[in-house]
Amino acid sequence: MVYRGVMGLAPELVEQFAEVADVIRELEQLRTYECDGLTGRRVIPALVALPADASEVQAVVRICSQAAIPFVARGAGTGLSGGALPVAEGIVISLARMNRVLSIDVDAGHVVVEPGVTNLDVTRAVSAAGFYYAPDPSSQQVCTIGGNVAENSGGAHCLKYGFTVNHVLAAEIVLPDGELVELSVWDEGPDLLGAFVGSEGTLGIATKLSSGADSWNFARCMSSNLRATTLLNWLLQRLETKSRGSVSRAPNASRSTYSIL
Ligand SMILES: Cc1cc2nc3c(=O)[nH]c(=O)nc-3n(C[C@H](O)[C@H](O)[C@H](O)COP(=O)(O)OP(=O)(O)OC[C@H]3O[C@@H](n4cnc5c(N)ncnc54)[C@H](O)[C@@H]3O)c2cc1C
Repeated sequence: MVYRGVMGLAPELVEQFAEVADVIRELEQLRTYECDGLTGRRVIPALVALPADASEVQAVVRICSQAAIPFVARGAGTGLSGGALPVAEGIVISLARMNRVLSIDVDAGHVVVEPGVTNLDVTRAVSAAGFYYAPDPSSQQVCTIGGNVAENSGGAHCLKYGFTVNHVLAAEIVLPDGELVELSVWDEGPDLLGAFVGSEGTLGIATKLSSGADSWNFARCMSSNLRATTLLNWLLQRLETKSRGSVSRAPNASRSTYSIL
């Protein structure tokens, strides 16, 4: 059954979306996207678009912009704050098909990924070289890097290495009017990338998280890790003093981290 949404989506608009990307429009399948980890709130979207690359994301967003259709990006839907909750007359743009690790530069510590790559798959991609991706939400087996960036996610490793915002140095983003922009920590002026990380999908859709292989850039990222390391060491020393040496380091505390650059 083709679902027309509570407010309905005109058939010609459905066809426009279908011309530029794969879409889901059957009620039974749309129900999959009615909520994220915040299951108390549920709204069936009018349509789900499944773009395969940035140009398809742009095309879908342009239709939304021109027809004033609300849209929300979705990674794996594990968010607990309702960020991927659709509105009834709106559509979901799922990044699930954009799940490729695009490049790895072990020497520089760089990895370039599409937003639908799962957190743990970044670690898997670099683990043979002795690296891992430090921000480690408990949902890392399924949550995506795009969702991590939108939520500035993290876990236990972040005490030492910093949160997602400390590990993303550049991003390719589709803005709400369909324009494609790139932001990086090396941009002049205000820290727009920093503002984007943690903005819960409200500022645009990340289509690539990347950087060129630049060793100075990596050093800059590492310096924030080093500051965090210094702080942790200080805290550990204080704890050791207070508890007479009962606190020990984590067994993997000296492992290398990997940053999305
Ligand atoms: C069991 C469980 C454990 C969890 N543990 C942790 C934890 O330890 N630490 C933690 O921080 N979180 C945790 N979370 C919350 C959640 O997993 C994280 O917020 C995660 O980053 C969400 O990723 P996702 O791919 O599922 O994103 P989604 O839930 O699909 O989306 C989350 C937000 O990101 C936006 N978004 C998704 N993709 C993009 C994109 N490409 N561009 C722009 N915006 C986008 C969405 O619009 C939405 O606002 C946990 C959740 C569960 C269910």
